[in-house]
Amino acid sequence: MAETLICLGIESTADNLGVGIATSEGEILANVVSVHIPETGGIHPREAARHHSAVMGDVIAEALEKADITAREIDVVAFSQGPGMGPCLRTGATAARAIACRLGVPLVGVNHCVAHIEIGRLTAGAEDPLTLYVSGGNTIVSGFEGGRYRVFGETLDIAVGNMLDVFAREAGLPYPGGPAVERLARRGQRLIRLPYVVKGMDLSFSGLLTAAIRELQSGRWSLEDLCYSLQEHAFAMLGEVTERALAHTEKGELLLTGGVAANMRLRDIIRSIAEEHGAEPKYVPKQYATDNGAMIAWTGLLAYQSGVETPIEESYIDPKWRLDEVEIPWR
Ligand code: AMP
Ligand code: MG
Repeated sequence: MAETLICLGIESTADNLGVGIATSEGEILANVVSVHIPETGGIHPREAARHHSAVMGDVIAEALEKADITAREIDVVAFSQGPGMGPCLRTGATAARAIACRLGVPLVGVNHCVAHIEIGRLTAGAEDPLTLYVSGGNTIVSGFEGGRYRVFGETLDIAVGNMLDVFAREAGLPYPGGPAVERLARRGQRLIRLPYVVKGMDLSFSGLLTAAIRELQSGRWSLEDLCYSLQEHAFAMLGEVTERALAHTEKGELLLTGGVAANMRLRDIIRSIAEEHGAEPKYVPKQYATDNGAMIAWTGLLAYQSGVETPIEESYIDPKWRLDEVEIPWR
């Protein structure tokens, strides 16, 4: 039997700095996350990056302590190489390079979206799912086909989580907006007509956001009804594209992941779609659904064990790295 490997993974694509430690047996030994909360407005990449570098040392130390290992026991260092915000990605990459060089161990650059799918397969117990990945920065429907995670549908502008956050901010709700919108939506009764934009298999949320803010400012509706209507429109759009992809691919599992996966209304929709098509619904546990280091560590190990390594001179970040550009040799 092969020796068990230990990987330290650093996630820093946006507002979360995550450091996770995983073993090649699929054990998560530590998963520490430090969140940067902007004082005003949305995420400012340079401010978030400053936060990440300020807490980097402490978060790594805490992860090592939780995992009950010393740095010398690390066999591989992985980091999120993209997609994400440049300054944030650079901070994580710099730390990862430094640790790998200091320890003399291999470095693996991981695609953030691949990591969301892989941690979902591991922690939700899915083998070959169709995945709806919905977060603050991404909205992607994908499935494995011919050596890659193919993108069946995605947003053409902003991510659904971002849309909820911006609406919530305009409505004076706390950050992040998703949970606050969900809470109010439960008390909504009236469905207000808003734009529903599905183009082929792709989605657009910016028109929905603009219209919802306009209705908010009109003062004609209760905030409960507006939140309810916003969710119903956005999630119906997600459901339509997801269902079509599921019908087309005939996958036996439907996996929901990303920060927006915490939403119970969206989970209901996913469950009913799965049931309709004889697929099993799977939900990634919350601590692995939002951005985290464990998913980077685990995916780094999968890649490393298939012979993938990222030499330092090729370890530059790629803020626009697409999910479907990545070869997946471990499947
Ligand atoms: P992530 O980008 O994966 O770290 O997830 C953060 C995103 O998830 C933010 O846009 C949040 O507003 C969103 N989110 C968190 N909880 C919920 C919820 N209960 N309903 C909808 N969105 C949520
Ligand atoms: Mg995030």
